[in-house]
Amino acid sequence: MKRTKNIVILSHCILNVNSKVEGLCEFGNISNRLIKYLMDNDYGIIQLPCPELTMYGIKRWGHVKEQFDNPYYRKHCRKLFEPILEQIEDYINNGYKIETLIAVKGSPSCGRNLTCSSPEWGGEFMGKEDIEKKLNDLKTINKPGVFMEEIEQMLIEKNININIIDMDEENEDITMKNITELLGKMEIK
Ligand code: SF4
Repeated sequence: MKRTKNIVILSHCILNVNSKVEGLCEFGNISNRLIKYLMDNDYGIIQLPCPELTMYGIKRWGHVKEQFDNPYYRKHCRKLFEPILEQIEDYINNGYKIETLIAVKGSPSCGRNLTCSSPEWGGEFMGKEDIEKKLNDLKTINKPGVFMEEIEQMLIEKNININIIDMDEENEDITMKNITELLGKMEIK
C-alpha cells in the first residue's frame, strides 16, 4: 500500500460484521468488494466505532431510531466520534484528503438515507396482546440514523465537508457504482 494521502471512513461493521445484531444477515460479497476496491486504490481506512455495540453489547435486540433518539445515546455517539473528528482535522490540516464516509443503509444508528422506525417499538414484549401491532408497525423511513445525524452535526460545527453515502447490502452493483463515482475512480474487477 502506498501513501496516497487519501482516506475513507467506514462504519464499523463494514470491516467487522460481528458487531451487527445477532441473527441479522451478513453483508455477503459487498463488504469484501468494497474493501478490496479501497485497498486496490490505496485508500487508508478509518473505522468508526460501533455505537450500539459499545452501549448495549452483542446480545442487544434490534432497535429502531425512536429508541435511540434520546439525549443519553446522542451523548454517547458524540463522545465516540470526538477522537475520530480530531484525527480527521489533523489529517486535513496536513494535506490529506478525507471526503467520503460510508454508512450502512437501514441502520437506526448508521443509516444515512434510510433508517428503521416505529413509534410503537419498545417496552415489555412478554404477554402483550398488541405484539402483532408492534411488529407490523416496523418500517424504513428516509431519514438518517442517530449516529450519522450526530456525525453530520459535528462535522458542520467544524466546517468540514465529508460526503456520507450508504452501503446497501441488497444492491451491491449500485452501491459500488455510487461509491466509485463519488471517489472518482473505476472499480478494478
Ligand atoms: S450500529 Fe452501525 S456499526 Fe454498529 S452494527 Fe449497526 S450499522 Fe454497524
